[in-house]
Amino acid sequence: TEEMLRKSDKLSVLGQLAAGVAHEIRNPLTSIRGFLQLLQTKANENEEYYHIMLSELDRINSIVGEFMLLAKPQAMNFTKTDLRQLLNQVISILDTQAIMTNVQIHFDCESNTPEIWCVDNQIKQVFINMLKNAIEAMPTGGSVHIHLKKQGDHVITSFKDHGCGIPEERIATLGEPFYTTKEKGTGLGLMICYKIVENHYGKILIDSKIDEGSTFSIMLPIEKNKPASE
Ligand code: ADP
Ligand code: MG
Repeated sequence: TEEMLRKSDKLSVLGQLAAGVAHEIRNPLTSIRGFLQLLQTKANENEEYYHIMLSELDRINSIVGEFMLLAKPQAMNFTKTDLRQLLNQVISILDTQAIMTNVQIHFDCESNTPEIWCVDNQIKQVFINMLKNAIEAMPTGGSVHIHLKKQGDHVITSFKDHGCGIPEERIATLGEPFYTTKEKGTGLGLMICYKIVENHYGKILIDSKIDEGSTFSIMLPIEKNKPASE
């Protein structure tokens, strides 16, 4: 537990710093992007250089965007939330990406699954990251199964893919920043997931086998985050 505490301390300091810096980087980035685009339309030659510059800028932008999500939540606004609804929204957000890579998304929700107390926007972010990773683990297509169920005083949401899997020695270190195996990855998605789930007194469990696939299960308490005023 001491190790876990230190890890989350470091995350929150980093989070505050990151949010400030990220915000300041966004503005000049946007203006550079605008001018580059303008120049691109006037360029007669070297068009591919503009293309590269724009896509590199987009990459910086997505890293900065993920960093901003680390911002300490101004107010943790816990509300009673229907995760089935939230997941349906997440699925429709990533539908296009799934279709483009030939991935089918299956979702089933056990009928006794209760609403839980959580910060719905943050949990949505966790689910988006999880589903995105599952889709990206299957570049040649496949299926993702999302399952929602109650277990004791928790609700468990699991994302099961049949993708590349994760090496055993890597599983323990997932959630550390900048570990990515993707050409366009940031290695920040899981770090944010861990931070959010920890803030909810939840847990992320990982089960994975190389070339067989991975299951990420997010355990969230049902009542524990209910505000005292309720
Ligand atoms: P990113 O997606 O930008 O690479 P993440 O923090 O979301 O960053 O994930 C970090 C790394 O963990 C990924 O690059 C990948 O190697 C591994 N990973 C995460 N989810 C999965 C998954 N479902 N299947 C296989 N590998 C995964
Ligand atoms: Mg990711």
